Amino acid sequence: MTTQKKTKSNRALPAKGVDWLHNPVFNKGTAFTEAERDMLGLRGLLPPHVQSMDEQARRVMGNFRSKPSDLERYIQIVGLQDRNETLFYRVVMDNLEELMPIIYTPTVGKACQEYGHIFRRSRGFYISSNDRGQMEHILHHWPTRDVKVIVVTDGERILGLGDLGASGMGIPIGKLSLYTACAGIHPMQCLPITIDVGTDNETLRNDPLYIGLRQKRIRGEAYDAIIEEFMIAVEKIFPGVLVQFEDFGNCNAFRLLERYRDRACTFNDDIQGTGAVTLAGILSALRITGGKLREQRVLFLGAGEAGIGIAENIVNVLVEEGLTPAEARKRVWFVDSKGLVVKGRDQLTEHKLHYAHDHAPCADLFPAVKSIKPTMLIGASGQAKSFTREIVTTMASLNERPVIFALSNPTSKAECTAEEAYTWTNGRAVFASGSPFSPVTVNGKLHVPGQGNNAYIFPGVGLGILCTGARRVTESMFIVAARTLASLIRPEELAEGRVYPSLQRIHEVSHAIAVAVAEEVFAKKLNAHSRPEDLPGYIRSQMFKPEYPDYTKK
Ligand code: NAD
Repeated sequence: MTTQKKTKSNRALPAKGVDWLHNPVFNKGTAFTEAERDMLGLRGLLPPHVQSMDEQARRVMGNFRSKPSDLERYIQIVGLQDRNETLFYRVVMDNLEELMPIIYTPTVGKACQEYGHIFRRSRGFYISSNDRGQMEHILHHWPTRDVKVIVVTDGERILGLGDLGASGMGIPIGKLSLYTACAGIHPMQCLPITIDVGTDNETLRNDPLYIGLRQKRIRGEAYDAIIEEFMIAVEKIFPGVLVQFEDFGNCNAFRLLERYRDRACTFNDDIQGTGAVTLAGILSALRITGGKLREQRVLFLGAGEAGIGIAENIVNVLVEEGLTPAEARKRVWFVDSKGLVVKGRDQLTEHKLHYAHDHAPCADLFPAVKSIKPTMLIGASGQAKSFTREIVTTMASLNERPVIFALSNPTSKAECTAEEAYTWTNGRAVFASGSPFSPVTVNGKLHVPGQGNNAYIFPGVGLGILCTGARRVTESMFIVAARTLASLIRPEELAEGRVYPSLQRIHEVSHAIAVAVAEEVFAKKLNAHSRPEDLPGYIRSQMFKPEYPDYTKK
């Protein structure tokens, strides 16, 4: 019997020449050196000229920029990820501002909508309701046990696009790419998973090219049993793994978070990640407006995962600052699809009940703005154009520097555009959005909108958790992450109206967040690993660098 050679992470090395080229983890393409070509049996399988990684990267970006649409750019770049992961991360890390809107929102949303039609090669891991009773068994099919982070979706609420079923797989793949690109978590330690319990999207079910089960969503106890089996199976196969829940429907997301947060190392990015990144934007906005958090009246449009997640973080900070939870919640108001959330309104879920204050009913946002006089208006409703000119100008008449965040994704769903927010307020708005907008000049002054991108938070939080072996994910870790992020914005960035640092600084940001989160893990004694003497140095040493190894030295 022959023993197959393995990497440090216990992943089997390819056996023969051509296998090296077809394995994205090990492939160097035209950059395999002469010595490697001899040693690995690659002679003849590659063109004779050995290219440097720089040359390869230039070729990739040249092709990328020549594509006619963002979806084509997505297809090209994900194709590279499927062929050569190291080169993929090299170009993503070197061109993050240009590539993030392609590998993540907004283009990934379009890609998910077209998933079955643009499908080329399977990536990630699919568990369907047909796999009930066998999940632990099939997880053995994944080629490594060294998985440290799972991002899982059931595809029910993909960005602001609704139920995309198994086509939602683009989201866990994209999020995990950001774990690596932003915080250097090794790609081999990342596992994207889609749980396919069906879809209530009839158009998809009738699409012959749809990749998922053609059945309505399983719900209720049977659904819960699937998630339970999944959580037990992943913990068994990948002990201590961090499980990030992503784009689950509202009706399941909160429940599952409550059920598993004290049983597993898990969090929900739509609730907690969004909560933290927006809290950071709010804290930065206060550095511009000069106010204190306790003096704000924050009005949300949309009381779903994002809105409630942000509100909970605001409340947690106010409680840290000495307010009672009830006093803190009084600063936060919600308008949802049925109008202002007020005491006595019918059928309010538990999360909304906390924010139901004494007030006359208001059917929609405009009268609510006039009555509540918010200092901050935050859109997380998925309703495009709902911050109308009259609403935005009213915000400007109420506040010297109105804070207006239009967080709904993708770009087409934003409550207002950056240009609208700045022009309607004569440049006085402090604006951030969920999807990126270009800078806007009003009266000769440049305004740079912030993108409240969760990628500022979750990769750094994940890195801090991995480096300490944290057993649980706490709310305090997200608050620490938000405070760290807000503290990193430089005065010259604030002067341009930015409430987030430039994405070019994302590695520094993720590292700083990881260090702060790790300190919190040690303080709460949630660590499985002991504290290294030089914590920042140790964390930096764990960050993946997209460099080709020399296989002749292995
Ligand atoms: P969700 O489905 O959980 O919640 C949507 C909420 O909007 C619900 O409370 C619903 O009642 C409300 N709503 C729907 N129609 C409305 C209307 N006409 N008027 C007022 N309210 C209405 O979704 P979610 O996870 O909270 O996400 C909402 C949006 O926020 C999405 O577009 C998502 O892409 C975006 N988001 C942005 C970020 C970010 O910027 N970092 C992060 C997460 C989510």
